[in-house]
Amino acid sequence: MKKSFDLRRVIRPHIFDLTPYSSARDEYTGKIGVFLDANENPLGSVLSKDYNRYPDPHQVLAKEKLAPIKGVKPEQIFLGNGSDEAIDLLVRATCTPGQDSLIILPPTYGMYEVSAAINDVEIIKVPLTTDFQIDTEKVLNAIRPDTKLIWVCSPNNPSGNLVQPEAIETLLDAFDGLVVVDEAYIDFAAITSWNQRLDEFPNLVVLQTFSKAWGLASLRLGMCFASSELIAILDKIKPPYNLSGPTQHLLYQALDHVQTKNELVKQILADRENLAQALSTLPGVVKIHPSDANFLLVEFDNAAGTMKYLIDERIIVRDRSKVTLCAGCLRITVGTEAENEVLLKALKKFQQNSVIA
Ligand SMILES: *Cc1c(COP(=O)(O)O)cnc(C)c1O
Repeated sequence: MKKSFDLRRVIRPHIFDLTPYSSARDEYTGKIGVFLDANENPLGSVLSKDYNRYPDPHQVLAKEKLAPIKGVKPEQIFLGNGSDEAIDLLVRATCTPGQDSLIILPPTYGMYEVSAAINDVEIIKVPLTTDFQIDTEKVLNAIRPDTKLIWVCSPNNPSGNLVQPEAIETLLDAFDGLVVVDEAYIDFAAITSWNQRLDEFPNLVVLQTFSKAWGLASLRLGMCFASSELIAILDKIKPPYNLSGPTQHLLYQALDHVQTKNELVKQILADRENLAQALSTLPGVVKIHPSDANFLLVEFDNAAGTMKYLIDERIIVRDRSKVTLCAGCLRITVGTEAENEVLLKALKKFQQNSVIA
C-alpha cells in the first residue's frame, strides 16, 4: 500500500512555486538546425570540435540508458555533479535556514553535516547503537515539527555495515519528511537497493554514486532516485548544465560495462576478505568491524601511533578515532593486492618496533 505523503509540507514554499530557468534550447529539441540562440562559438572549439555546444540540461540519453539498469523510470532519476550535489540540493529544497532541522545518525558521512552547516540548518544528532544500527525509538523521539530530513547511510561510512531494513522502514512509515538512504557502497553489499520501493514510499530518497564500484570518482557523477515529483523539484533548482557534455558522454559509455563493474567488485570483495584475515593476525589490531563495503573500520591498540607511522611510510588511511563510537579506529580502503601487502608489512614493522621500544 502506498503511504500518504504531502510533498508540499517538506519543500520550502518558494521552491515549490519556483519557475525554473528555461534554457535557450528548451523551446526546440531537434538536433538539426541553425543554432543562434545560446551565444556559443559557431566555429568550433580549441579542443574537440563538439565541445562548443552546451550539453543537454536534462541528460535524457544517459537517464534512458540508466533507468532499466537500475529498475526505475527515467523521471525517478536525478544526476548530479557527485552525490554531494544531490545532498546539497536536498537540504536547500527542504530546509529553511535558521528555522528547520534535519537528523543525522553518527558516526556517518561528513557531508550531511557540512551541507547543513553551510545552509545554516540545525543538525539533530542521534547516534547509532554500539553495533552501528539505528535506535529507531530515539530517532522518532528526536523528530520535531520543523524536521524535514533524516539521513541514513547504508552500508554506513565509516562503520561499513548495512543498516537493518526494518529500522529504515519504520522511519519511512512514521516520518512525514524525507528519509534519504545513501547507498554509495550498495554494489559491495548483498542487498537489493531501496530504489525498488520508491512506489511504496513517496518520502523515500535513495543516493548512489559512480565514484566507488564503478571507479569513476574523477568524473563526479552521483545518482538520486525518488518520486518523479521530488526529482522534478531537484531538477528545477540545480544549475541547468550541472553535468558537462563529456561527462554525459562518458557515462553513456560506462553503462555498457555493468559486467566489468561486477568483476571489479568481486575482486575487491575477495581482497577485502584477505586483508581482514591478515589484519586479524596482527597483535596491535583490537577489532575489525564487519564490512559490507570496500573498506574496513579497524580498531588498533595505538591508533595515533599507527596513523603517524603509516604517514611516515607514505601510506594514507583515514583516522576516525575522534569520531563518535569509533575510538581507536582507522578506516582502511581495500587497495590492490600489492598495496594491501605494503600496508600489512608496514603494520608488522610498526608493531615490532613498538615491542622493542
Ligand atoms: C564516497 C561517498 C559518496 C560519494 O560521493 P560523490 O560525491 O558521489 O563522489 C556518497 N556518500 C557516501 C556515504 C560516501 O562514502
